[in-house]
Amino acid sequence: MSEQNTEQCPFCHLAGRKILFANKYASAFYDEYPVSPGHLLIVPKRHVASFFSLTLDERHAIDELIIKAKDFLDIKYHPDGYNLGVNVNASAGQSVMHVHVHVIPRYKGDTPSPKGGVRGVIAGKQSY
Ligand SMILES: [Zn+2]
Repeated sequence: MSEQNTEQCPFCHLAGRKILFANKYASAFYDEYPVSPGHLLIVPKRHVASFFSLTLDERHAIDELIIKAKDFLDIKYHPDGYNLGVNVNASAGQSVMHVHVHVIPRYKGDTPSPKGGVRGVIAGKQSY
């Protein structure tokens, strides 16, 4: 999907999704395939594939919603920690070519050995 192809982009068409928070440039909603209870996505309103192509205003808007998401999740889910993540390009696992920041609440015991956190994106490299 190119940066211009928005017709099939699920994050350009949010009708039917419950938007939890939004500001001028970004929206936050639940991931449809959560890896943990409360897993949220923060997406820019503009269709853009790469995090590195966002404007500074868009990055600030996303950052604001990440903090709002954390406050919301702390109250609603009481997680013990968080992973924040952005996949950029198919080689890094990006499947929807519209920027989305994962806010993943973590809970004690949700994995036997959480040490290394996002280092685990490359199998076998999480532990060190
Ligand atoms: Zn899009």
